[in-house]
Amino acid sequence: MTKYRGKGVYGAIAIGRISVFRRQDVQVKRIKIENPEKELARLETAKEKASSQLRDIYEKALKEVGEANAQIFEIHMMMLEDEDYNDAITEMIKGQNVNAEYAVAATSDNFAEMFASMEDSYMQARAADIHDISNRLIACLSGCENASRPSSEKVIICAEDLAPSETVSLDKDKVLAFVTALGSSNSHTAILARNMNIPAIIGLGDTFLTQITDGTIAIADGFTGEFITAPDEKTLWEYKEKQKAEEEKKKLLQELKGKENITLDGTSIDIFANIGSADNIGAVLVNDAGGIGLFRSEFLYLENSDYPTEEEQFSVYKRVLESMAPKKVIIRTLDIGADKQADYFHLEKEENPAMGLRAIRLCLSRPEIFRVQLRALYRASVYGRLGIMFPMITSTSELSEILALCEQVKKELDEEQIGYSSSTEIGIMIETPAAAMISDRLAPMVDFFSVGTNDLTQYTLACDRQNPYVERFCDTHHEAILRLIEMSAKNAHEHGAWIGICGELAADTSLTKSFLQMGIDELSVSPSFVLKVRDAVRKTDLSE
Ligand code: PEP
Ligand code: MG
Repeated sequence: MTKYRGKGVYGAIAIGRISVFRRQDVQVKRIKIENPEKELARLETAKEKASSQLRDIYEKALKEVGEANAQIFEIHMMMLEDEDYNDAITEMIKGQNVNAEYAVAATSDNFAEMFASMEDSYMQARAADIHDISNRLIACLSGCENASRPSSEKVIICAEDLAPSETVSLDKDKVLAFVTALGSSNSHTAILARNMNIPAIIGLGDTFLTQITDGTIAIADGFTGEFITAPDEKTLWEYKEKQKAEEEKKKLLQELKGKENITLDGTSIDIFANIGSADNIGAVLVNDAGGIGLFRSEFLYLENSDYPTEEEQFSVYKRVLESMAPKKVIIRTLDIGADKQADYFHLEKEENPAMGLRAIRLCLSRPEIFRVQLRALYRASVYGRLGIMFPMITSTSELSEILALCEQVKKELDEEQIGYSSSTEIGIMIETPAAAMISDRLAPMVDFFSVGTNDLTQYTLACDRQNPYVERFCDTHHEAILRLIEMSAKNAHEHGAWIGICGELAADTSLTKSFLQMGIDELSVSPSFVLKVRDAVRKTDLSE
């Protein structure tokens, strides 16, 4: 029995045989050719084939993991047509009289190196994408494009890393788990695994692949990140029990659908869900959430290669509001900067990006971008019950500036005779200690607060949320954080505002009772945690 430790990116347990995912390695040799035109014609045919394969993968992804996640394959199709990339290949074939396979491989390495050396982590991750499309093109050139191996049994796929196209091409019904040597929790592959509800562990390190063999029984624990090969009887039994218990828990939770979020002594609370895309609405409804407490609108921007237009935004917000009506939907305005970067914003490199020009600071510095979003939001407001929420607030003056912009947008809409809902709620995130400390001043200016415990923890404890080295100093239950939440709740209620929590702490059921005691009105959690939190609420007795 050998134990490995990586990072779980989707919590569930899988027990089964290992299948080592090996790319059908095509050895690319440099071959001198006589006829570059013939080579270019071969390249063209291979490109058409690769493009049609990508289209099929896109269609499959669209069905299985939704539009937002499928978009990466649209990007691959675009990359395949990229002029610079194609010119570089063509020039190499013509200028050096080399075979197309070699020209593609060499160009791919050059481009990947260029991406990898960029400062922006999003662009760095594109190196994997360029390799992915180039490998496909080489496979099409060599006639080896059917690399996936059929398997009759469900298996744990172990790989060095999985490209997004490989992840989605695998037959979902044959995959028990993904376990990879490399990878990061922000990679598209990790995101796809989460959306496919498949347990996944990443970052097990290089050596693990040399030590495992096909067909060995293994356990993948996506909760703890533990991967155990050839488990002994006792361990296997323990994990089977753990797996059974998890399944039982899930089944029992299903019985809570349609039930109230009410404590044993009769206190009610709303349980809403957090989403990052309109495609997640299905999960919100299936898990019986009472509304959407946080729609991270920045993903709309991150998925695009240019600023989403007012029309594009309007149609997404409208779709979310209509699908959820008459339930409440809280859309947070753009929270970009820090770890969430989109190239086309051309943000300057900052020494301390978490404390830099992010979220509302960026919006107030570039009101022309902010205005587009506010217009789209107000226009969509007539299609449901909208709350607009502003992130990263630290002062009343910022809030006054925002409220003035909202008034200006509404005035414009009035002049253009475009309707909006006058009952649209306005709220702010309490995610800086400053906002919590002056919550008595902020509360009269808004309808609601929502506590962003992820950032509130980072800023209160001076612990960079991206930095794994300070994780042990990052005590999310720290008394300072709980006091700031309690203070904000008291101030909200004294001034007629309601208060929710939408950071990860909202799903921490060891705090559910404390939150109820503080008078928190709403907890907004990942869709898959809604019933777990409902269960905790229903087992709480505040009179005890
Ligand atoms: C938070 O900070 O708690 C929050 C919900 O926002 P995000 O995680 O998107 O920064
Ligand atoms: Mg935040």
